[in-house]
Amino acid sequence: MIIAIDGPAASGKGTLARRLAAHFGLPHLDTGLLYRATARALIDQGRDLADREAAIWAARGLALTDFDEQALRSRDMSEAASVVAAIPEVRAALVETQRRFAHRPGGALLDGRDIGTTICPDAACKIFVTASEDARATRRALELRARGEKVDYAAVLEDIRRRDARDSTRAAAPLRPAADAVVLDTTKLDVEAAFRAALAIVEAAAPSFRSAAG
Ligand code: C5P
Repeated sequence: MIIAIDGPAASGKGTLARRLAAHFGLPHLDTGLLYRATARALIDQGRDLADREAAIWAARGLALTDFDEQALRSRDMSEAASVVAAIPEVRAALVETQRRFAHRPGGALLDGRDIGTTICPDAACKIFVTASEDARATRRALELRARGEKVDYAAVLEDIRRRDARDSTRAAAPLRPAADAVVLDTTKLDVEAAFRAALAIVEAAAPSFRSAAG
C-alpha cells in the first residue's frame, strides 16, 4: 500500500508525512531531498544550475544515502532545487529510484509535488496538503530562524510565491492535486489536528491501514 502526500512549500506535508509514516510503520521518502541533493551536487562541482547536462548527471549519480538533510534544508537550496526540478530529464532520472522505493513489499509513504500524479498514480491514498500563503510563509520563517538563518517574513513570502509559481507552471509534472487526491487545508490546524485529519483520510481511503497500525 502506498500513501502519496503532495503539496506546496511549507504546507506542513513534511511533518505530516513523518508522523503518518511513524504511525503506520512505513518507510518514508521525502522526495524534495532528491532535488535538493541534485542542486547541491551541481553547486559543489562549481556548475551553473542552468547547466542541464551537469544537472542530469548529478541526478543520475544520486544515492539515497548521500543526504546531509540539515544542509539541504537551507533557503538557498530550496530555490536551487526548484530550478533543477523543472528540467524534465532530471525528473526522468529520478523516477525509477522513487518507484522502486514506493513499490517495496509492505508499502511506503512518499511526499513531494508529483507523487499522486506521476510517480505513484496507483497509490491507495493521496493527500494534497495545502495552506494559505500567509500561514506557509509564517511557518517557513519560523523554521528558518530556528535553523539560525536571518530572514524576514516578506522575503520568505516572496520565496514561496516564486517557488510555487515555478513548480506549478513547469511543463514536466507540475504541482497540482491528483484528480483522486483528498485536499487537506492546514491553515487553521495545529500539528496535532492536521495529523488527526490526515489519519482519518488514510483510514477512509485504505481501511486495511487501520488494522495494520493496530
Ligand atoms: O519539498 P521540498 O520543499 O523539499 O522540495 C524542494 C523543491 O523540489 C520543490 O520546490 C520542487 O521544485 C522540487 N520537488 C519536485 N517534485 C517533488 C519534490 C520536490 O519538483 N516530488
